[in-house]
Amino acid sequence: MQSKIGIGYDIHRLVPGRPLILGGIEIPYNKGLLGHSDGDVLIHALCDALLGALALGDIGEHFPDTDLKYKGIASSQLLKTVKELLDSKGYEINNLDVVVIAQTPALTPFKNKMKQALCALMHIREDALNIKAKTNEGLGAIGENEAIACYAAVSLVKERG
Ligand code: MG
Repeated sequence: MQSKIGIGYDIHRLVPGRPLILGGIEIPYNKGLLGHSDGDVLIHALCDALLGALALGDIGEHFPDTDLKYKGIASSQLLKTVKELLDSKGYEINNLDVVVIAQTPALTPFKNKMKQALCALMHIREDALNIKAKTNEGLGAIGENEAIACYAAVSLVKERG
């Protein structure tokens, strides 16, 4: 058995006039994440963790924000593409662990729905993904509700051969 680990991080600004898309679902809130795509910071961190484990660079190289093709794209599509890459390399997701940092909205009520959406996108069991939601204790830009950040860690496995 071969194994690999990867980490990912991302942060996006919260701005009025956009829906809040996080973890592949829409969450009711008065602001949304700014981005060339839908701004789903959780999925971006996940993609970077997966790409990192595969030593395939980062999300910006695979889906440049200068490419109009990706303007307004659902990040769930990006995650599907990264998962296909992982499949093509013969790796499976052993487990994923995610920390989302948002002062508001409170994310705990949405964790299960996010988990279901993400596991369906990646075709993994729900016990292979953990989501932790934290505030930033009111500190800094995240504490002032100006941004949401996310860290992700992944472990991949592959049968030797
Ligand atoms: Mg991003």
